Amino acid sequence: MSTHRPHVGVLALQGDVREHARVLSGLGAEVSLVRRPVELAAVDGLVVPGGESSVIDKLSRAFGMREPVRDAIAAGMPVYGTCAGMILLADRITDGIEGQQTFGGLDVTVRRNAFGSQVDSFETDLAVPALGAEPVHAVFIRAPLVEEAGPGVERLAQLDDGRIVAVRQGSLLATAFHPEVSGEHRFHRLFLETVQRA
Ligand code: GLN
Repeated sequence: MSTHRPHVGVLALQGDVREHARVLSGLGAEVSLVRRPVELAAVDGLVVPGGESSVIDKLSRAFGMREPVRDAIAAGMPVYGTCAGMILLADRITDGIEGQQTFGGLDVTVRRNAFGSQVDSFETDLAVPALGAEPVHAVFIRAPLVEEAGPGVERLAQLDDGRIVAVRQGSLLATAFHPEVSGEHRFHRLFLETVQRA
């Protein structure tokens, strides 16, 4: 990383927090676990991990984090969401549990558990031109899908049938899969570059 070391947080209410923290530290970032508004205020970017979006939603409200995260997104803080994190960044979701809310920010509709119970998880190689020629080995675990994306949303990766699995809009980045578990660090690097530019 260049000049100064970015200070980023991982929302640590539930999910694969450690895996993200490890990747971000490995890329040279200073990493804090974020559970409280004061901890959010101290970081320049946030990762919302994979896990269970309905649980992270409930805990974020219980911990008084929903409004601060929404405010930070509105103020332009770079945020990267993987899987459940993608669901939490979506303005609209389908197949959420009763009363499930999101932070929002991404002008997309995301279907939760889009691959159904028959296909719990799968791995595939994806072309992601924004990250270079080398394909991304993507691990999908009870993954969501972007069903509809507004005009300001950049489609970073699609399955062979065209379904959208990675998007970017302004400072927000989201993947339906988990680069943090497959040794793929380019999405985190892209996130850190966004933090350094912000
Ligand atoms: N199915 C989970 C949800 O609804 C997401 C799974 C994941 O993050 N690996 O939040």
